Amino acid sequence: MIPTKTYAALDPKKPLTAFTIQRRKPGKNDVHIKILFCGICHTDIHQARNEWGHSIFPMVPGHEIVGQVVAAGASVKKFKKGDYVGVGCMVDSCGTCKDCKDHVEQFCNTVSYTYNSQDPKTKEVTYGGYADSIVVNQKFVLRVSKTAKLAAVAPLLCAGITTYSPLKKWKVQPGQKVGVVGLGGLGHMAVKIAKAMKAHVVVFTTSNNKSADAKRLGAKEVIISNNANEMAKHALSFDFILDTVAASHDIDQYLNLLKRDGTMCLVGVPNAPHPAVNPGNLVLKRRQLVGSLIGGIKETQEMLDFCAKHKIVSDIETIPINYINTAYERMLKSDVKYRFVIDMQTI
Ligand code: NAP
Ligand code: ZN
Repeated sequence: MIPTKTYAALDPKKPLTAFTIQRRKPGKNDVHIKILFCGICHTDIHQARNEWGHSIFPMVPGHEIVGQVVAAGASVKKFKKGDYVGVGCMVDSCGTCKDCKDHVEQFCNTVSYTYNSQDPKTKEVTYGGYADSIVVNQKFVLRVSKTAKLAAVAPLLCAGITTYSPLKKWKVQPGQKVGVVGLGGLGHMAVKIAKAMKAHVVVFTTSNNKSADAKRLGAKEVIISNNANEMAKHALSFDFILDTVAASHDIDQYLNLLKRDGTMCLVGVPNAPHPAVNPGNLVLKRRQLVGSLIGGIKETQEMLDFCAKHKIVSDIETIPINYINTAYERMLKSDVKYRFVIDMQTI
């Protein structure tokens, strides 16, 4: 086993703290990665605080990982020592079911998430990226661009793919009016990616002080979502709305802004349900309300290559690992522009 320094949640009510875990020795298909940077996703907070009710403790969160290969197993052909690589939200899946064959491993019934997951075969619990290293099956390791600032690439591994995937799935076209609800880690990536897809991007925010940033990031218009008059002006005008909000809120106010046949996609997963949706808002204009979960490994590589081509990275604030608990509190107040990334040299 490999002793590994981490920061872990030992209990849902206590701050994260320094903790040593044991990683498996790399097998023939494994890549051993020295972690350089790890982004902080709002999911990490939901999980560390057991807000979704299925947390396993101790827990080492973190699924926006960028690092350098230290060693590669004998059967690893894609990666070699020294390569810069990424790991996102998944580290294994069965490889044989329809979901795996269709390259949507995130829906495999036995997918292993990067942390807070139990390997169905070994029963071992997975530990994530708030750590100095990780061992991952080569199939779940991604190539990252050497030219981009690595710390700012890390959030693409979750925030990037989670927003890229639905924009592709629901075929957002140049010139379409696309709304992004919530300008946080996911939301600001959605703005950059939808702009690169040549959509007319509109940001809905609850924070008055984010308007200028939203435009700098690529939005053509910004709407303060608790201003009913402003919202009403956009009725029946959107082709697609992506909702990234991490808290329970009214969905109907957005459904009414969709055109006939428009689609609203939820990616935020609050710990409490949204208020019930009025079926009339869907039925009368044949609108669709859908959800989306990260993206498959093949699509994650496609997204990384797309972002490299369009020079898209995340806007980040780099922090030392011992700032993690303060970072969580600031994220809960929407006080981050727009993703915290841990510099893992500080562990
Ligand atoms: P984040 O950085 O904290 O951003 C969330 C944004 O939501 C905030 O910046 C804020 O934007 C808005 N917001 C927060 N509280 C609100 C409230 N009470 N009412 C209205 N708006 C509020 O979070 P994130 O990392 O982007 O994650 C967002 C959500 O997506 C989380 O629930 C996370 O678990 C989930 N997630 C899902 C997937 C998936 O695969 N589906 C993947 C990753 C994350 P404004 O200040 O602009 O209003
Ligand atoms: Zn995430």
